[in-house]
Amino acid sequence: MEEPNFFAAVQHQLDEFAKMLKLDSEIHALLRHPMRELHVLLPVRMDDGSTRVFQGFRIQHNDARGPAKGGIRFHPHESVDTIRALSMLMTWKCALADLPLGGAKGGVIVDPATLSEGEKERLCRCWIREAWKNIGHLVDIPAPDVGTTPQMMGWMMDEYIKLRGEFYPGVVTGKPLGIGGSLGRKEATGFGAIITVREALKHLRLDPKECRASIMGFGNVAQYVAINFVKTGGKVMGVSYWNRNDRKSYTITKRDGIDPCFLQSITDQYGSIDNKKALSNGYQVEDGDAWLLKEVEVLVPAAVEGVITGETLKKISPKVRIIAEAANGPTTPEADAILRKNSNIFVIPDFLCNAGGVICSYFEGVQNNMNYYWDEEEVNQKIEKTMVNAFRRVVETATEEKVYLRDAAYIIALKRVITAMKLRGWVRSDAALR
Ligand code: GLU
Repeated sequence: MEEPNFFAAVQHQLDEFAKMLKLDSEIHALLRHPMRELHVLLPVRMDDGSTRVFQGFRIQHNDARGPAKGGIRFHPHESVDTIRALSMLMTWKCALADLPLGGAKGGVIVDPATLSEGEKERLCRCWIREAWKNIGHLVDIPAPDVGTTPQMMGWMMDEYIKLRGEFYPGVVTGKPLGIGGSLGRKEATGFGAIITVREALKHLRLDPKECRASIMGFGNVAQYVAINFVKTGGKVMGVSYWNRNDRKSYTITKRDGIDPCFLQSITDQYGSIDNKKALSNGYQVEDGDAWLLKEVEVLVPAAVEGVITGETLKKISPKVRIIAEAANGPTTPEADAILRKNSNIFVIPDFLCNAGGVICSYFEGVQNNMNYYWDEEEVNQKIEKTMVNAFRRVVETATEEKVYLRDAAYIIALKRVITAMKLRGWVRSDAALR
């Protein structure tokens, strides 16, 4: 499922904008690669007494606007290039949401489902022991991502606090409630994605009650995408997921729409649904790709990168009006080139669509740093306001500049990052950004 050239693809995207915006070469050079990279080896004592050495990374793409920010992935096919690409996307995501944060990403090459609880804890603590001098609430703030959980963030926070000897809960976000986690964080990415879908439906003058969605994935993001889409009045016709037992993907469907809360109750912590329980409750189990073929108005890739390709676009229903990129980088450059010419499909770009998670993370950090906590309503209102502002700004820019939505999002984010770099004196203040 991994896109081997994901980093090359995001660099290529940046190169195109550099040409379009006539960026000076010094600005282009500073943004084309991450500013800092940490590569570490993590020796972890396994339950059987042996030691396994894992490879880990933390990559800070740009911190001109504030401390670097981004998740840590635990994935068996993790690669430095994927982390580099994702760190760059975090820079754009934070800037587009107008958060005073830069972009980073981390990772470990590991399948977390093969580790015991104790092994996972030792791996998380080991990661912090290697990275703690390079992170901090004023430096770089990790968070959960694919394969990592709030509990893991709790262990990481604890290890950092022990090493520092002072209570710094804001060093990591996405922590469990009770040790500095924020209300609303678990739900935030899916909640935010559906705010952008709701705004897009309004923009297209479509009634959510008459809209159907189909979702790829049923992990944390996808679950709250489904729950919130149903709350807006729409129907979710299918969700696909990866079954780790037989290593196959399936789509779970129901003729009148699925009940996401029921499916959530029969799903494990890695997003694997219990097929037998689904079948015995009136659901159908179809092929992994079936989610793409459903007759729906809204398609939501909410799992991994590179799943919307030129080929898959040929198969989607002509009814599709919105592709909401809840995953990071789900659309390949080839598919994107087709979509930008197809004015019938409104593509909500990833770093807008899935910004709810990092927005809530930012508010978690703010609450940690002031040691005062808001109720869920207050957190959600703040997320909603930030998402809606970002969405409107993207649509306005796309309309004014007559550009594709993804280009509009890039233009806004790039301008903000470049302004910060100029104001800080990293590049000439008269460096071109026309
Ligand atoms: N991993 C999430 C993302 O890709 C959240 C990052 C964060 O909360 O810092 O946006």
